Amino acid sequence: RDFEDFFLKRELLMGIFEKGFEKPSPIQEEAVPIILQNRNVLARAKNGTGKTAAYIIPCLEKTDTTLKSIQVLILIPTRELALQTSAIVKEIGKHMGVQCMVTTGGTSLKDDIMRLYNPVHIIVATPGRILDLASKKVADLSQCQTIIMDEADKLLSPEFQPVLEQIIGLCHEEHQICLFSATFPVTVKNFCKKSVPNAYSINL
Ligand code: AMP
Repeated sequence: RDFEDFFLKRELLMGIFEKGFEKPSPIQEEAVPIILQNRNVLARAKNGTGKTAAYIIPCLEKTDTTLKSIQVLILIPTRELALQTSAIVKEIGKHMGVQCMVTTGGTSLKDDIMRLYNPVHIIVATPGRILDLASKKVADLSQCQTIIMDEADKLLSPEFQPVLEQIIGLCHEEHQICLFSATFPVTVKNFCKKSVPNAYSINL
C-alpha cells in the first residue's frame, strides 16, 4: 500500500512526503481508512509504530479549512507530548492552511483565550485545560466530531475519567472517538464500554 491509495488531498500528501514518510506503517495502513470512515477506534499501539501520524493524517484530511470551527480535539496526558504532537500536526499539515493550537495546564489561560479569538481547527490539549476553556465557552467544541485520545492508559486515571466524560459531552453529539493505548487496564476497558460503542479494534 502507498499513501496515494488513501486518496488524500494533494496538500496533505505533500506534507507527508516532505516529512520523509514513503510508505504507511502497518498501524497507518489499518487506522487511516477506518478513521476516515468516521468510525470509533480502539487501537493497541506502542510508541515507535507510527501511531501519531496514524491519527494525524486522517484528522488533517477531514478538516475543512473553509470553516472556522474546532473540528478535531486531540487529548494527550502531558504538556510535553502535546507540544510534540502539535508540532507534527503543523509539519504534516503545513500546506493545508490548518490552524492547530496547543493548550495545556501550567501556561497562561489568558494567552489561550486570546488565541481562540482567531480560527482554530485542531486543538491538542490536556484534559483539565480544555475543559476549563470549553466550560467557560471560550472554546466551542459543539462542532467537534473527531476526538482522539492518545496514551489513553495515562489519560484515563480514575480522577481524569469524569473530566474526559464532561469534555466529550461538550463535543458534537455525532462524534467519533479514536483511542490509542499501549495497554488496556480495567479503567480504559470500562470507559470504552461506556463511551466508545461499536469500535473497530486494531491490535498490532
Ligand atoms: P510514533 O510511533 O508516532 O511515535 O512514531 C515513531 C517514529 O516513526 C517517528 O519518528 C515518526 O516520524 C516515524 N514515522 C511515522 N510514520 C512513518 C512512516 N510512514 N514512514 C517512516 N517513518 C514514520
